[in-house]
Amino acid sequence: MTTTLDPATMSTRIGVARLLPAQPALSWADHLRRLGHVPLQVASELAEMASAAGLVGRGGAAFPTGRKMTAVAGNASRRRPAVVVANCCEGDPTASKDAVLLANSPHLVIDGAVLAAAAVGADKVILAVHRGSATTGALRTALAERPAEGIEFSIVGVPARFVASEATALVRYLNTGDARPAGRTSVIWESGVQGRPTLVDNAETLAQLALIARFGASWFRAVGTAAEPGTLLVTVGGAVGVPGVVEVAGGTPLRTILTAAQWTPTRAGVPAWALIGGLAGCWVDLNRAAETGFSAAELGAIGGTKGVASIVVLPAGGCVLTETARILQYLADAGARQCGPCMFGLPAIAEDMAALAGGDRSAVARLGRRLPVIDKRGGCGHPDGAVALAASALRALRGPEAVHLDGHLRHGPCRSPAPVVPLGHENSLRSGTR
Ligand code: SF4
Repeated sequence: MTTTLDPATMSTRIGVARLLPAQPALSWADHLRRLGHVPLQVASELAEMASAAGLVGRGGAAFPTGRKMTAVAGNASRRRPAVVVANCCEGDPTASKDAVLLANSPHLVIDGAVLAAAAVGADKVILAVHRGSATTGALRTALAERPAEGIEFSIVGVPARFVASEATALVRYLNTGDARPAGRTSVIWESGVQGRPTLVDNAETLAQLALIARFGASWFRAVGTAAEPGTLLVTVGGAVGVPGVVEVAGGTPLRTILTAAQWTPTRAGVPAWALIGGLAGCWVDLNRAAETGFSAAELGAIGGTKGVASIVVLPAGGCVLTETARILQYLADAGARQCGPCMFGLPAIAEDMAALAGGDRSAVARLGRRLPVIDKRGGCGHPDGAVALAASALRALRGPEAVHLDGHLRHGPCRSPAPVVPLGHENSLRSGTR
């Protein structure tokens, strides 16, 4: 059933309500009542505060925010001021956390961008959104209400393609209109938008930064784990009673997050598959891993990843092979096809996975040969994510689930329920059952 983003109902907090207010704080007056003015006086120490807080990027790459700010600030000067790009695009269709954050508290994200600009020596903030998304209106209204802040703001609509909001692709788009990644060697903190040092941070990261500036690093670390402090936003969709975005402390067990979304566990011994971390994520059997904490360390220990912090639960009988084949085809179509792994590798593994789902035994060996050849060979990380997902699907079908794979190999595709992993850039919560 299709739902639309309703800021008041699509968000839940589990014991912590930092980013997501109890009621949407849309107006400048409501925002000031809740959090007060932007504390610009701490801008010169903000990178250090972010490092002390242990803040890492919430867009998927988890790069230390303080380190990134220091690098940009070190390259900026009065003659060549930096640029801040607030990435509000959310390229992975399984994630809606930034959309919900912006729909609930747009000023908090803008505060973070203003503070980051002051901290790195930027005179320009670009709010990058997917072209035509509802987020544009929320940001435009918020900007119109704020007092003059001595910074040039603009909102730029970016093509709603999977790789178009990767940091180097964003910068390339802003410079040339070409929204393809510029590759691993592109050094945007030295020379990014208009050749100026550029800080690209995800919307949630900026909102966290605005809270750290107000309340300090110790406050930030008061929840979460020592290695992964603070809260984070997690998008939960698929076969749950209440799909939405939950704010949780780092390390919160999957079971707690899923209970908030009214997940019903399957019978003992029957796998309950979930895709965790986005389209470049991994498959996890919730019946075996429900006590795993939502942190990079704990998910990594079971072969998973936090990725874009999304969880898509398959319905009972949902088929990992069929879903993976769809996703790989989507990722192959989404690639910019500038380099070999993207142009040839992704379509080949998508075809192999579809063949495997159709009962072609030889596809297992082909995938076994191809995945290592593609991994880490692309100009950007796009093919690596597809490889990780394919490898995770093959792992998921070992052990007790081997019988499921055997069914595909003997009889072709199974009679699984309709796929639920959202593809394309519709709101990911539309796949839910609300
Ligand atoms: S891997 Fe694909 S998306 Fe990444 S740089 Fe190469 S062509 Fe572009």
